[in-house]
Amino acid sequence: MIALSLAEIAAVVGGQTHDIPDPSTQVTGPVVRDSREVVPGSLFAAFVGERVDGHDFAARVVEAGAVAVLASRPVGVPAIVVEDVQAALGALARHVVKRLGATLVALTGSAGKTSTKDLIAQVLQRKAPTVFTPQSLNNEIGLPLTALTATEETQFLVLEMGARGVGHIRYLTDLTPPKIGVVLNVGTAHIGEFGGREQIAQAKGEIVEGLPEDGAAILNADDPLVRAMAPRTKAKVVLFGESAEADVRAENVRLTDSGQPSFRLLTPSGACDVTMRLYGEHHVSNALAAAAVAHELGMSAEEIATALSEAGTLSRWRMEVTERPDGVTIVNDAYNANPESTRAALRALAAMGKGRRTWAVLGKMAELGDEALAEHDAVGRLAVRLNVSKLVAVGGIEASWLQLGAYNEGSWGEESVHVSDAQAAIDLLRSELRPGDVVLVKASRSVGLESVAQALVESG
Ligand code: ATP
Ligand code: MG
Repeated sequence: MIALSLAEIAAVVGGQTHDIPDPSTQVTGPVVRDSREVVPGSLFAAFVGERVDGHDFAARVVEAGAVAVLASRPVGVPAIVVEDVQAALGALARHVVKRLGATLVALTGSAGKTSTKDLIAQVLQRKAPTVFTPQSLNNEIGLPLTALTATEETQFLVLEMGARGVGHIRYLTDLTPPKIGVVLNVGTAHIGEFGGREQIAQAKGEIVEGLPEDGAAILNADDPLVRAMAPRTKAKVVLFGESAEADVRAENVRLTDSGQPSFRLLTPSGACDVTMRLYGEHHVSNALAAAAVAHELGMSAEEIATALSEAGTLSRWRMEVTERPDGVTIVNDAYNANPESTRAALRALAAMGKGRRTWAVLGKMAELGDEALAEHDAVGRLAVRLNVSKLVAVGGIEASWLQLGAYNEGSWGEESVHVSDAQAAIDLLRSELRPGDVVLVKASRSVGLESVAQALVESG
């Protein structure tokens, strides 16, 4: 982070200083909300959570080297006291970002934000120092904390933006106004909270509304609801996708035998072949979005293609492939699931598992509202259509809908089983797996199926 004095921070956030002997003391960063992450020079933001109150850690964090606490009440140690810590954090991020010379890239979408953010970061890093959202810290707290980690050297700041309702993205773009805004897709993630796809499109499209005229809106040409966002921006529109109209396109898309996408990348400045290290065809779209961003920022097709071909996974549990010594392949995609990403993962499993026995260990896809039954049913059917050898549906009612879909699509007997929980899945797979099998593990975050993937990796 760039160094700021406590006096300056207090002025920016409109706070009162308490118990601060010398207001010219500098915060050198980082700004953290987790007391365990405090290092000398930190500013600790005290949030009142459901179970813990950050203010209770005030003495401890100062002992650990924090310069002060950003708090909503005096805490007996150096503090900047504000009414609303979240708003103060946002104001601080806005102030810092304005002072930086960095170009801001923001992206949103229903699925693939983190994967694409990691790709964009890995491509841009080759050109200049880049700071990006760690993991999925894409909300009103994670975003300012990330922005505050940028330094004077930072040239590119890549920010993932999440939304659970209309107005959320606008709030985030007000804090850190992007020059380049990317919308990946409009799916059904969080549809229960939004109310419908149109509302999701309304909310995601906010990312292009504030873009400057000399900025770029990077939109998915293959997703009609995303394309339709073009009139909502005054920035230049750059389309990516497989459609012929896209400015940044992929041709000859195929999956290698190991399930890795390979394609010819076409950009306005040239064409180049890409074979990715990541698994699953959904990464083609993510890669094209990253390529469009990099193209706008002046990188050549060749530089972009090399970077995309060498990019790895930076975030855990997303199509993480482990080869066990006994020849069993575990694909841990347990980070999260929605219908789009589950279909993509099943197709990757089918490609990787050609000629091998394939297992899809699937759990609930959360937050689908009224569409939950139909969507689980459709995924169960797809597993059968893709010739997945075994479907293991884990959990409650949603798992039975998965199994029902498989049953209705023609899987009668032992091809699909329903188990009550992760442990039951582990027990079943431990006894059934044979050398050469490929196992995909995927469900929504709340199901926590990574325990299954981990147990299987360890039992090899
Ligand atoms: P979150 O909302 O949880 O932050 P996200 O949008 O950041 O999710 P990722 O973490 O990148 O998305 O991926 C979530 C899941 O979606 C993973 O299982 C991944 O394999 C899959 N996925 C990634 N990209 C796409 C895509 N373009 N289309 C569909 N599914 C995708
Ligand atoms: Mg994410």
